[in-house]
Amino acid sequence: MELLFATGNANKVIEISKLLPKHFNIQSLKDLGFKGELNEPFLTLEENAKTKAEQLREIYNKNVFAEDSGLFIEALNGEPGVHSARYSGNNATDKLNIEKALLELQGKSNRKAYFKTVIHLILDGAHHQFIGACHGTINKQAVGSEGFGYDPIFTPNDYDLTFAQLGLDIKNNISHRSKATKDFIDFLLAQ
Ligand code: IMP
Repeated sequence: MELLFATGNANKVIEISKLLPKHFNIQSLKDLGFKGELNEPFLTLEENAKTKAEQLREIYNKNVFAEDSGLFIEALNGEPGVHSARYSGNNATDKLNIEKALLELQGKSNRKAYFKTVIHLILDGAHHQFIGACHGTINKQAVGSEGFGYDPIFTPNDYDLTFAQLGLDIKNNISHRSKATKDFIDFLLAQ
């Protein structure tokens, strides 16, 4: 089964391809030679994942899926949320995003937050969504060197270490992305 994945991130393609049997052929935007931009104009991950999948399906008329993730901090009214990647502006880096989040949280005692991933699949014209969340708290400072994004400041519930300290093996057992991906793969395997 050929499936188009609305992502330019090669690591995500490798990750998902590894989890699927060989007869699933995942094509990324790069594999397709897609040079355009997929718009993500909405205020929810659900709508943004859906519109990315729809834009790609419109062009190629094939089975497609898109993924969107973000960090939602309770005391910041859910920010950075859909803006997680570019929270600190157009020249955002993981470091600058973390600095901004910690600054915004200064003096706030509520450190609750969650990561969320939405995968939107359009298969034979039918729409399906798979959602995963991981709840935890935001650290006072960044610690740990593994992972990416906000991993150094996110401590998942039931752990005393950040995602960046826990490492990928543990993160992959409990993360938002792994939960959504597992449901997505279970669904595909049942087709
Ligand atoms: P994406 O939709 O998966 O590209 O995620 C958007 C942004 O959310 C990333 O650029 C990160 O800043 C943040 N993010 C998503 N998932 C994670 C994660 O597992 N750890 C840390 N940051 C993440």
